[in-house]
Amino acid sequence: MIEVKNLVKKYGNHLAVDHLNFTIEEGHIYGFLGPNGAGKSTTMNIMTGYLSATSGTVRIAGHEMLLEPEEAKRHIGYLPEIPPVYPDMTPREYLRFAGELKGVARGKLEAEVERVMELTGITSMHRRLIGNLSKGYRQRVGVSCALLGDPEVIILDEPTSHLDFGNQFRFIQLVEKLQALGIGVLMTTHFPDHALYLGCDTVILDKGEIIASGNARDVINDENMSRIYRIDAHIVEIDGREICVPF
Ligand code: ADP
Ligand code: MG
Repeated sequence: MIEVKNLVKKYGNHLAVDHLNFTIEEGHIYGFLGPNGAGKSTTMNIMTGYLSATSGTVRIAGHEMLLEPEEAKRHIGYLPEIPPVYPDMTPREYLRFAGELKGVARGKLEAEVERVMELTGITSMHRRLIGNLSKGYRQRVGVSCALLGDPEVIILDEPTSHLDFGNQFRFIQLVEKLQALGIGVLMTTHFPDHALYLGCDTVILDKGEIIASGNARDVINDENMSRIYRIDAHIVEIDGREICVPF
């Protein structure tokens, strides 16, 4: 569905993304780990057409982002690391506005807004102002926005970073639910546990390069995991659930 080939991004002399290659299939979950500054957001911003690459290509459903951005963007949804905030709008008002921008047909807009709010569990919040919502619900408004227009894959940049312990887990369960509905999810996270719980294809990005990839278990056990984070990461099992703990 998404094909990233030889992607390079330089900011001046600084190489933020270094000849990245990977593919994303529909209906799968992919987790991107990597320390701050690894190039995760830069990669996502290029994949979603918010930033231009220095070289390399991003193809989405056969459409090259640079050449056919509108066609390419139709197949994906994006929740950036710092989402645009509209604190004075209700979720419904904001989603109507975002849906129009995204090109959802006028006659289908109302039903589409209801559909995505139902999916992410924010229907009961529709009268509250976004500015008054908890961070957990606000993040769900962002995911609802990414889901507008029924894209095959949604791209989420650190969606759980600012959520409390409970909301983090509920958010991961939401990702699981979206996958069960056939939606592909690519997300960055600072929590190896999330990748482990989801059992997703996982990579570690460092200095703009993929330095480990495979299932979450293998990646956590990879020597690069401990090297990059300068900590020993171990997988332990409690009541049949595996979690990752630093030593
Ligand atoms: P991550 O999301 O993994 O934390 P980023 O993609 O935000 O990483 O950043 C990758 C690298 O590029 C970092 O070294 C960062 O400082 C640099 N960088 C990001 N955006 C810019 C920018 N607009 N101008 C210059 N350097 C940038
Ligand atoms: Mg980032």
